[in-house]
Amino acid sequence: MNTITVKSPASVANLCCGFDIMGIALSGLYDVMTLTKREEKGISIKHIDKYNLPEDPAQNVAGVALQAMMDALQYPNGFDVIIDKQIKPGSGIGSSAASATGIVVAANELLGKPFGKKELVAFAMEGEALASGSRHADNLAPCIYGGLTLIRDTATLDIIELPIPPMYVNIVHPQIEIKTSYARQILPKEVPLKSAITQWANVAGLIAGFIKADYGLISRSLIDVIVEPVRSKLIPGFDEVKKKSLEAGALGGGIAGSGPSLFMFSENIDVAKAVEAEMIKVYKSLNIEYKTYITTIGEGVVVDNS
Ligand code: ADP
Repeated sequence: MNTITVKSPASVANLCCGFDIMGIALSGLYDVMTLTKREEKGISIKHIDKYNLPEDPAQNVAGVALQAMMDALQYPNGFDVIIDKQIKPGSGIGSSAASATGIVVAANELLGKPFGKKELVAFAMEGEALASGSRHADNLAPCIYGGLTLIRDTATLDIIELPIPPMYVNIVHPQIEIKTSYARQILPKEVPLKSAITQWANVAGLIAGFIKADYGLISRSLIDVIVEPVRSKLIPGFDEVKKKSLEAGALGGGIAGSGPSLFMFSENIDVAKAVEAEMIKVYKSLNIEYKTYITTIGEGVVVDNS
């Protein structure tokens, strides 16, 4: 096999209280990447989408991630990469993570699977660091493992796959720009003990809720008292979307990654449709362009056999 095509999913990191440690893969929203082996050394990248991302492999997260893998293997040849990006860069739903993970899964398949999942996350993290300036794996791990993952420790990549009950996921992406670096810069450097206690109680509650499929507990635990109060100010309509979504029956939700997208979980499709209608109302009234999606929790990067 010399060529492979993969679908690489969007993802939501943080899930409110789980800042930097939790993430889910989404279904139905993905980039398509084709990788071909070649004799000639090096990597060439071609984008066939509308986003004008850098094609220099050293400036593209896919190139950096693939190079990390090739270096580990001391790979003597090269690859041609074609990326059809559907997930808008800077949306907060893991556009860069989709590229970084798609490429390493594809290359691993082409090379006869020399690496396991954890090593693939490590290579992808090299690429992700280019986009965000910091090493984190909360979007990457769900793209590699699928479903819901917890990163207990980033340095050692202690990744735990967790069960998650069926839920609908609403995404609304107001078409405004928030720089991930700025969204990090404004975060508090220290946290009062009282807030920390509330936060870790909610993280524990959320994980327990997921494992027990206890929707009430999930709903009560989707609370972030540390990051959301600061970051939500960067997103027009945030408070209104949240209030109206909860009134429409959503279990809860918040900022997707570092925003500007917001996510909401719902137990059934009727509620998800009602939540979407409320999201649309808010951004129409604010005269801000938006995109909405209703999706579910999905598997990770998959080989496209179609
Ligand atoms: P998101 O959460 O949507 O991934 P980020 O801000 O983390 O948003 O990453 C997007 C940034 O990464 C943009 O500045 C973009 O130019 C850069 N980038 C470089 N290569 C890629 C790529 N292959 N896919 C997406 N973004 C890329």
